Amino acid sequence: MQGYILRTQKVKDEDLLVYVLTPKNLVKSYRFYGARHASVMSGYKIDFELNHNELFLPHLRSVLHLGFMWLLDRDKLIIWQQFMRLLYSHLKDIDELDEIYFNEVENCAQNCDKQSLKRLIIESYVRILEYEGRLHSEFECFVCDEPILDELVLARAFLPAHAHCLPKTTLNLKKIKELFDTKSTIMLEDSECDELFSTLLEGL
Ligand SMILES: [Zn+2]
Repeated sequence: MQGYILRTQKVKDEDLLVYVLTPKNLVKSYRFYGARHASVMSGYKIDFELNHNELFLPHLRSVLHLGFMWLLDRDKLIIWQQFMRLLYSHLKDIDELDEIYFNEVENCAQNCDKQSLKRLIIESYVRILEYEGRLHSEFECFVCDEPILDELVLARAFLPAHAHCLPKTTLNLKKIKELFDTKSTIMLEDSECDELFSTLLEGL
């Protein structure tokens, strides 16, 4: 099986709880002496086996790290691990997952050596919001319910609001409309992507 490690949690000094995102589930597994193994780290894509155990969590075995070159880039690794943490919080209580989450993570990981990771994550997140029926592309302010006509701000989960209703860095309505329609950040400046990414860090 293959998946992405979204979170590890130390137990009893050297063992780890390991949460792995696969196409169908967020697997909660147990790894003996996991803290000693460099291949078990948040953000890594792994090939693995599960030893099912009636009394306890499945044991994570035969772990092989399927590395990406860009993981050596410290800045990208930090952004990546932030995204993994957010996904864990978002998915932790769901039993069966649609493949979109795994596929979006896979898309980001496969393209990250050539493209900005922040941009890839923002684009993935807009697709995820749309899939979950949470993409607000009608552009009404969630504070006052009035339509937004020019500048806007985006709150957590990219909820649109008027700049005068919510004190935050303003964004251009036309550009955000285009992002929501095309799921592409191509028309956005890096500074605008930084703003969107910091909003994303507030929670998915
Ligand atoms: Zn408003």
